[in-house]
Amino acid sequence: MRIEIPDGSLFGPANLPYGVFSTPGTAPRVGVRAGDSVVDLAAALGDDVFAAPALNPFMAQGFERWARVRRRVTELVSGELPGNAVHPVGEVTMHLPIEVADYVDFYASEHHAANLGRLFRPGAEPLMPNWKHLPVGYHGRAGTVVVSGTDIVRPCGQRKPPDEPAPAFGPSRRLDIEAELGFIVGSGSAKPLSTSDFADRVFGAVLVNDWSARDIQAWEYVPLGPFLGKSFATSISPWVVPLAALEAARVPVPARDLLPYLREREPWGLDIELAVAWNGQQVSRPPYREMYWSPAQMLAHLTVNGASTRTGDLYASGTISGPAKDQRGAFIELTWGGAEPIEVAGEPRSFLEDGDEVAITATAPATDGGRLGFGEVRGRILPAVTG
Ligand code: MN
Repeated sequence: MRIEIPDGSLFGPANLPYGVFSTPGTAPRVGVRAGDSVVDLAAALGDDVFAAPALNPFMAQGFERWARVRRRVTELVSGELPGNAVHPVGEVTMHLPIEVADYVDFYASEHHAANLGRLFRPGAEPLMPNWKHLPVGYHGRAGTVVVSGTDIVRPCGQRKPPDEPAPAFGPSRRLDIEAELGFIVGSGSAKPLSTSDFADRVFGAVLVNDWSARDIQAWEYVPLGPFLGKSFATSISPWVVPLAALEAARVPVPARDLLPYLREREPWGLDIELAVAWNGQQVSRPPYREMYWSPAQMLAHLTVNGASTRTGDLYASGTISGPAKDQRGAFIELTWGGAEPIEVAGEPRSFLEDGDEVAITATAPATDGGRLGFGEVRGRILPAVTG
């Protein structure tokens, strides 16, 4: 059979993202999305590396192999395919695309970091002295990275508002999102990676929602950084957009006076436009091209101390915020700590309520002159489990 790709599809032949899918009664395996179809790669190519329930074995084969498979898949989707290798996207279940090895979250948006500085440390310099010298980050919890569509249980923890004398335990009252982009290390290294290693070590990118309990975070984060306010769940989109598909989305990043290991011959970022919908209403359009630190700089910094990398390592950009108010990628910024609620479906809202649903989507320029899509990362808030 042949796949019909509708004109203007965000999943045209210039995208071809990888994911892990199953159909009723079958085991999860690797697929590629083309238009509104999913191509079963194990069935189409007869290669067992794609019968795995994660992209890791394929990613571990390295850059040359990724390029060969991408060329082969590009031919496949424009030709005749066996009927058993093609499924309508509406009839498959998507799974976590990778086995997450380590998870790191950066803080690479100057607009976001400055806004959070103003909110968390009023009266002080918005950016800490280190911020423009290194990409600030923290190690997150790989085991609680979940695929889009997974419900998020409101976390419980210690909270202590500034005007209370002692901490209390209970469900978070300031549950928030962080709209981010995540990069997946395809082939790791025992040695430090340089900025020039980025393009052939990183396999692709996904959307990330780094759910954040701001009240738990505000009480716990000094001096060691985010912990239980973040580690309960991090959602990622199911389709991994290959780095090769993002060639036309490259945009220059201004050259800056940095230590040599953070310099790039031609620093580049990505012109990816995100959109955040809260209960179906678009509330923000965060622009990835505004990020201060580039993906390659984040990778070089992550490994400069000798830390090794592995297939399946995930590092996220941190909240993506632009200069305009409607470009802020977290509700704490969008509503200025809750002081300026926004209207969602006719109601003033600051933070997430039980039953709320957030969906983050993104598009970018594609190499064929059109646009490509990342799909979405979606999650709904369930009430806290108490007692
Ligand atoms: Mn984050």
